[in-house]
Amino acid sequence: MKLSQFFLPTLKEVPADAQVISHRLMLRAGMIHQTSAGIYAWLPLGYRVLKKIEDIVSREQDIIGCQKVILPTLQSADLWRKSGRYDGYGKEMLRIKDRHERDLLYSPTAEEVITDIFQSHIKSYKQLPQVLYQIHWKFRDEIRPRFGVMRGREFLMKDGYSFDLDYNAAKQTYERIYESYLRTFKEMDLTAIPVKADTGPIGGDLSHEFHVMAPTGESTIYYDAAFETLPDAARTFATMSNLYAAAEEMHDVAQCPIKGEQLKSSKGIEIGHIFYFGTKYSKALGAEVMGPDGKQMTVEMGSYGIGVGRLVAAIIEAHHDDAGILWPKSVAPFDIGLLNLKQGDAAVDALAEDLYTTLRSMNVDVLYDERDERAGTKFADMDLIGLPLQVIIGAKTIKEGLFEVKIRKSGERKMLSKEELFNFIKAN
Ligand code: ATP
Ligand code: MG
Repeated sequence: MKLSQFFLPTLKEVPADAQVISHRLMLRAGMIHQTSAGIYAWLPLGYRVLKKIEDIVSREQDIIGCQKVILPTLQSADLWRKSGRYDGYGKEMLRIKDRHERDLLYSPTAEEVITDIFQSHIKSYKQLPQVLYQIHWKFRDEIRPRFGVMRGREFLMKDGYSFDLDYNAAKQTYERIYESYLRTFKEMDLTAIPVKADTGPIGGDLSHEFHVMAPTGESTIYYDAAFETLPDAARTFATMSNLYAAAEEMHDVAQCPIKGEQLKSSKGIEIGHIFYFGTKYSKALGAEVMGPDGKQMTVEMGSYGIGVGRLVAAIIEAHHDDAGILWPKSVAPFDIGLLNLKQGDAAVDALAEDLYTTLRSMNVDVLYDERDERAGTKFADMDLIGLPLQVIIGAKTIKEGLFEVKIRKSGERKMLSKEELFNFIKAN
């Protein structure tokens, strides 16, 4: 993509109400545009990141056998009356009437709809387990939308729903998804701490929120320092669910098994939440299958959310410096920024254009800054949008035959021959 043609409305000044760093950087880097309170359009740069995150989330879900669907955002109130949540949900639910005065709502989550679909089609235990998920827009009329896409009103969420024959099978599904969440977040260079969450009237201990630590997080979490030193191989449900981690509301100093330095606390951003809720919805909506002994059994369910839009902000909170964003490679909107510092110089233009074409033919995603701008502006914009690698071309490149490469995260610079450059890009 050539920067002169790319829709990248970077800002020098950000609105004063943008308090947290991710919100400020997303606005400054032209990733999002606010259309009303808590509602954002994703502009090309932001959408590229959102899409990368969606792809990682989907891939990890598919690997463990979940199946992707897409459900309507507008749902009938009648289904929600069956589960008792139409009245229970409160003001966060956006209620709509159609032209026939029928009650609809904009989905804040989708347990009712998916359970209804399940019960229409699945009749035998032989078809279990099933995990269906979608990545789709949700609407919750948050009383105080804030921090940009971190707490929006309309936001992109991965929501998954599991159907199993009994508690043991449901628990296995839950553990499989728990572990896949850890891998999903790791792929985005985020270390997530699974915190036991309230299971309400269901009881048991099968509900976890996944938090990434950031000073701007809205939750406070307390956790065993062992979380920070666990080797990857030990990041399993069996090990991690036995370590202490609690949100502020649960955490009870007197009861806490961890004492002294071993107990850590931090602000956290909730990026995921998984929940086993047994037969709460299957009972209400009649989701039964025929069991092995020929008797009808009500299926055991769980639901599994990831804040896909919120993740973009959480990644920025975890990966930035004074100059801008530091995208992990896996979610970067482009792989490389190519800067032509001598735009208009025929030899430099030809070299830069040639490199741009070659890289693209190698399937490297390049953002080519061929604008007629000062070098300082080009450097600042490139640092702001945070692509992992910058290749800088100027008069010196022609004279010495060496390309300058800057690694955005470390600031390290290298002078490389053309061949070394290609090898370096392939290796990084
Ligand atoms: P929170 O406690 O932050 O309000 P929640 O517990 O209501 O979130 P869930 O129903 O668990 O949210 O939704 C699953 C995930 O969706 C959350 O873990 C979070 O990452 C994301 N999410 C929830 N609400 C919002 C929102 N208003 N804006 C952006 N993402 C959200
Ligand atoms: Mg939650």
